[in-house]
Amino acid sequence: MPVDDVKGSSFVRDLMAEVKTKNPSETEFHQAVQEVVESLDVVLQRRPEYRSAKIIERMVEPERVMMFRVPWQDDRGTYRINRGYRIQMNSAIGPYKGGLRFHPSVNLSILKFLAFEQVLKNSLTTLPMGGGKGGSDFDPKGKSDNEVMRFCQSFMTELCRYIGPDTDVPAGDIGVGGREIGYLFGQYKRVRNEFTGVLTGKGLNWGGSLIRPEATGYGAVYFAAEMLATRNQTLQGKTCLVSGSGNVAQYTVEKLLQLGAKPVTLSDSAGYIYDEAGITAEKLHFVIDLKNVRRGRIKDYADKFKGAVYTATEAAADANPIWNHKADCAFPSATQNEISAKDAQHLLKNGVYVVSEGANMPTVLDGVRQFIDAKILYGPAKAANAGGVATSGLEMSQNSMRLSWSREEVDERLHRIMKAIHKACWETADQFGTPGNYVNGANIAGFLKVADSMMDQGFV
Ligand code: NDP
Repeated sequence: MPVDDVKGSSFVRDLMAEVKTKNPSETEFHQAVQEVVESLDVVLQRRPEYRSAKIIERMVEPERVMMFRVPWQDDRGTYRINRGYRIQMNSAIGPYKGGLRFHPSVNLSILKFLAFEQVLKNSLTTLPMGGGKGGSDFDPKGKSDNEVMRFCQSFMTELCRYIGPDTDVPAGDIGVGGREIGYLFGQYKRVRNEFTGVLTGKGLNWGGSLIRPEATGYGAVYFAAEMLATRNQTLQGKTCLVSGSGNVAQYTVEKLLQLGAKPVTLSDSAGYIYDEAGITAEKLHFVIDLKNVRRGRIKDYADKFKGAVYTATEAAADANPIWNHKADCAFPSATQNEISAKDAQHLLKNGVYVVSEGANMPTVLDGVRQFIDAKILYGPAKAANAGGVATSGLEMSQNSMRLSWSREEVDERLHRIMKAIHKACWETADQFGTPGNYVNGANIAGFLKVADSMMDQGFV
């Protein structure tokens, strides 16, 4: 995106020009930073001390970036090399915290955008966590369990030098679920000879928290419910478009069903299903088994359930037909930039007036602007999907205290945190002159806590 598209003061425009020069080709990182700094313009005018302390210039520069070779052997005995990363972005309010992503598209730009967003998101959770992100261009799809294990062991053999329960606590993300966390944890324990809460998303028998797998999806739905409550509405009877079919999408659908909504779509990178009759609990159960156990494709849903229609999608197309159905709400829960400018137009045209982002940065900047201009209830990722990392924070607390809370207790805390995040975004947007604008609310509320902590800690 050219610098001319940047909205805001000359400070913001100059800053973006510098970010682009210093980080060439990192388009996702530029996009994430631009959305935030445009929101922060008004804060910098009111609080010039942040400018003299170069808070934003420091926040866009990772504290540390690790990039390393991950050699492993596949089942045929062939040697393979992947690239591993860990970005330690900002530790002003706590140890680095953020997921690991295993996907062939992973590169420095994607991980830096995720790490940057994570800093503000973690700040919003009300818990003491800094921001980080990591992963690899390794693709777990089509690999045997043994191959995934060997890869995870090699990856952790290097990563374990840089992380620790008081330093940096990774979790899952795309391609990193319970299976991968298990292998990573086992290798960390073996190499470091310590049993600690160094990862979250662990199995229940070895330090995991109830509700962590459900948390991101549940949280995105709680956030949507809070947004609707500002208009005295509920999710009851609302038709919902959900993309993805992994961890976030599955538990988004589960919570929507519990709250009486009607989810009608799910997708993967090859296509999507539209089930006009609605995805029921029984059908969701089929999807969970299909994706988490049999590791199949969403197309199988349409073969199994009469009335559901499967449509193949093309990643390079300028619009995805999943976003072109009549509905009330949309829960993008697959990946970044999955809602293009044209998709945003389609959503608005089809009557969607609630967008709660389960995925990270799923909407392109032009789409974000359309949602804001249309004054729909638009919950940006760093607020709407913060339930996942918040519950990771709760897992860390339980590990430190060496005890486990009940399912009800964790869910209750998650719900309270999502309400608090919503309130912070709502009130901050209002205080800074843009009522109802959750993008500004989330960016500013997340920023202030980190910025004030950085001010307290000196020029580091
Ligand atoms: P999973 O790996 O469990 O599922 C990802 C889903 O998205 C799959 O259905 C996958 O399809 C689809 N997908 C991935 N990449 C693409 C792509 N390039 N194009 C189209 N579809 C794609 O990941 P999660 O559910 O954990 O993560 C989904 C999103 O939520 C990500 O943006 C992640 O960063 C975000 N998130 C996750 C959190 C968590 O706790 N897990 C916390 C906060 C945010 P396929 O199987 O074909 O690849």
